[in-house]
Formats: sequence, structure tokens, C-alpha cells
Amino acid sequence: MTDYNLIIDGKKIATSETFPVINPATEEVVAQCPKATREHVDQAVAAARRAFPAWSATPDAERSRMVHAIADALEAHKEELTKLLTLEQGKPGVGFAGMGGAFEIGGTLTWAHATADLELPVEVIQDNDEARIEVHRKPLGVIGSITPWNFPLMIAIWHTMPALRSGNTIVIKPSEFTPLTTLRAAEIINEIVPPGVFNIVTGDGSLGAAISTHPDINKIVFTGSTATGKKIMESAAGNLKRITLELGGNDAAIVLADTDVAAAAPRIFATALFNNGQTCAALKRLYVHEDIYEEMCEALANIARSVKTGDGSGDVDFGPIQNKVQFEKVCTIAREAKESGARFLTGGEPVAGPGYFFPVTMVADIADDTRLVSEEPFGPILPILKFSDVEDALRRANDSNSGLGGSVWSRDVARASELASRLECGTAWVNSHAMIQPNMPFGGVKESGVGVEFGRYGLEEYTNIQSLYIAKG
Ligand code: NAD
Repeated sequence: MTDYNLIIDGKKIATSETFPVINPATEEVVAQCPKATREHVDQAVAAARRAFPAWSATPDAERSRMVHAIADALEAHKEELTKLLTLEQGKPGVGFAGMGGAFEIGGTLTWAHATADLELPVEVIQDNDEARIEVHRKPLGVIGSITPWNFPLMIAIWHTMPALRSGNTIVIKPSEFTPLTTLRAAEIINEIVPPGVFNIVTGDGSLGAAISTHPDINKIVFTGSTATGKKIMESAAGNLKRITLELGGNDAAIVLADTDVAAAAPRIFATALFNNGQTCAALKRLYVHEDIYEEMCEALANIARSVKTGDGSGDVDFGPIQNKVQFEKVCTIAREAKESGARFLTGGEPVAGPGYFFPVTMVADIADDTRLVSEEPFGPILPILKFSDVEDALRRANDSNSGLGGSVWSRDVARASELASRLECGTAWVNSHAMIQPNMPFGGVKESGVGVEFGRYGLEEYTNIQSLYIAKG
């Protein structure tokens, strides 16, 4: 028995099989989640297809009103949703610098409202004696959304609100590690939108593959690992699905010699450790000029020593790593870094269980070819690398298959901006990092993704262009 159900065509659907959802702080089963089959995916896609004509014909202002209403309804349940996030994802409600579960819910609401206010007006590109030519934006049809476990609710909203806003219908599959918050949100959303507009199925990667290969889905929006993103891109070819892929990152930051270390260190720490380091656009490789290297190492280590990691239901800064596989990956990467001779300023060893706890770990004097530097660890561990020549730092920063974000830190904003523009990434920041907002397009280059989310540019990705040529004379 489970309190959670799939939602297909506006109806709650129980499944014959379930799978357990684990609290990463205790390793206890907190709920049984419905395990959907391929037939459920077929039913959900068919429901979304049936709902599409009416939903896409719904007046724009009405769809905007409903997206605002969804945000309001989620806000009315924000305490329940924040608790659920802690239970399944591990993050504390408040957490370091107030960036825990409540922050995720806050972001969810902000993005939903901002998306409700977006518009895609008809563009007139010619109107003369010969012809009037208009560019219209048309919804694509049924959108398949596949989400990861690091920000389960916020990413679900990032995917689905622009899809709804622009007149598409949805089948969403959350991560099997964190399905509960999204299942609960789907119930709330289904009290507002017509049946079939927002369907949810839960299961593992094989269910994700049933979505990405489905011949009656028109677009996949996916956030997750680069490896899975590549499989999705391949499987989307069957019916030429549109895709938006938000994949892994290994963001570099370059800190110039004139940087005010005391002012920058807390900001660098916060962005590197955001969500316990389990953030796609977190700062993951820190290149610091040799003149301020030791000062920066000490400042970051001091902050790391002052924070508390523990069960997110208590008063802690950081929770556990979300799942066992990821926890073991972080442990292995840390062990390999140690074996390579790197200098550990703090942390480095997992905390004895239960729970997937790893302390905040700062690592100095580490070689570029260690996995901690060349791969995204996706955990609370930061390599701090030294440079003497800024051109060399740029080359090392860009020597990566990833290209999500990057940053340059300096008192000289003009110089930092020029250097930032030479970082090979989708978003470059100056004296900041991982700062995203609903009106700024966000996406990766290289193997960090395809397409962008947010704002008008993100909304356009849920549409096809129809050019309308009206002959005159
Ligand atoms: P993952 O790729 O393992 O899983 C993501 C989702 O894909 C899950 O729902 C999973 O069930 C599903 N899936 C797995 N195999 C599939 C397949 N063959 N076909 C279809 N779906 C499949 O990723 P994860 O471990 O949940 O998330 C962590 C990764 O996500 C990190 O690499 C991180 O950088 C990335 N991420 C990127 C962004 C971004 O915006 N760029 C944001 C958050 C996370």
C-alpha cells in the first residue's frame, strides 16, 4: 500500500508494484512509490494527446492565470513540500545561508510566477504592398519531462510551467530517488488544470527510456547526467523529437591576484557548496593566483570548519549526499585525490553510518589530471588549484568537455569581464557564480547540454515557428 499514486488523465492510479524511497540521512524506507509500466506511459501519453487540442486552444490569458494559480497552490502547501524534500532528498529546510529546502520551494514559486508572465507575441517581419509576413509560435504537443534528484521540485517546475504556459501537455517522470515531492505537487497541479494536461508516472531509468523513445511524444526536456543525456538524444531521433538537455557541469572559477579574499571567500564557499555540492552549476574547480593562494585556502578551510553536516530534519548547514551510488562516488574520488598526494585542508573521510554523510572537504595542491578536477564530483568537496599566469588558468579552465558555467573574480571588473567572455560555457559570471534567475537564459555548451531554459528564450523551445505569408495586391 502507498499514499502515492500515478496521475493519468486527472485520475489517481495505483500500481500493482511499488519501489521503496529511502531517507538518505537514516537509510530508512520512508514510503513506497508506485512503479509504473510501459502501459502506464502509453496511457499517460494518450491522455496528454487527447487533452492537447483544448489546452492549446485555451486563451493565452487563461493559461497564464492557471500557471499563477499553480504557484499560489504550491505556496499554500510549502511547509508540507519542504518537509517532504528533506525526507527524500536530505537537504535541510533552512540550511547554510538559507539555501535549503525552503529556498528550493521559494525558487519554485518565483519561477512559476515569472513563467506565467512571459509572452510570445506574434512578430511582424514584413508588412508592405507585396505581403504581410507574421511569425507565430505554436505549441509542440506532448512534452516528456525527465528530472534528477538534486532539486526535484524546482527542476520539475522549470520543465513543466513553460510547457503548460505555451500550450503543451505533459508526461513527467521524476527521479526514482526523489519522486515524492513531485507526486504531491502533481496532485496539487491537477486540482487546477484540466484532466490529461499534467500526467505523472514514476519509475527508474527504463521508464525514462520508454518516454524518450515514445513515438507520440513531441519533445523531451531532460535534466540529469551527460551519459543519460546522450542516450536520450539518440532515442529522440525515432520521431525527431525536439530536445532540451541540461546536463552535468564542471564549472571553473578563476580568482585573480587583486581579489579581496575576505570578501570573496564566503561567496565562493556558498556557491561551491550549494545543495551540498550537488548542483549542476556549482563552482567545482577553483583556480587561485599564487599570490593569494594560501590566504584563500585558509579562508575557505575556516568556513568549512565552522559548518555542520547532519540529518536535514535538525538544525544543520548541510544534509547527507542524496543516494548511495553518489555517496560512494564522492568517497572514491576523495580517496583517489588523497592517494595522489593532494593536501586535504578539511574533511576527506566519510562519516560512519547510518546515512550518506560526507563532511565539507577542501583540497589544495592537487594535480589537474586527478578525477576530483577532471570530473564533476557532485558532492561537498572542492579542489583548489594554483596558477601564476592567467592565460594558463584560462586554458586549464577550458580544458574540459563540460561547458555549463564559469566565473572570474577580481576588483578589476572590466578585465574580469573580458576574461569571463573567453570561458567556454553557457553562463559566465563576474564576482559571482551559479547565480541564475528566471529572466536570464541558462544552458550548457559542449557536453553540458543542448538548448536553454528560462525567460523568453527558454519558452520558445516549447514551440515551433509557423511563418504566415499573406499575399497582397
Ligand atoms: P541521471 O542521468 O542518472 O538521472 C536523471 C533522470 O534520468 C532520472 O529520472 C532517471 O531515472 C532518468 N534516466 C536514467 N536513465 C535513463 C535512460 N536511459 N533514458 C531516460 N531516462 C533515464 O542523473 P542524476 O544522477 O539524477 O542527476 C545528477 C546529474 O544531473 C549531474 O550530472 C548534474 O550535473 C546534472 N544536473 C544538471 C543540471 C543542469 O541544469 N544542467 C541540473 C541538475 C542536475
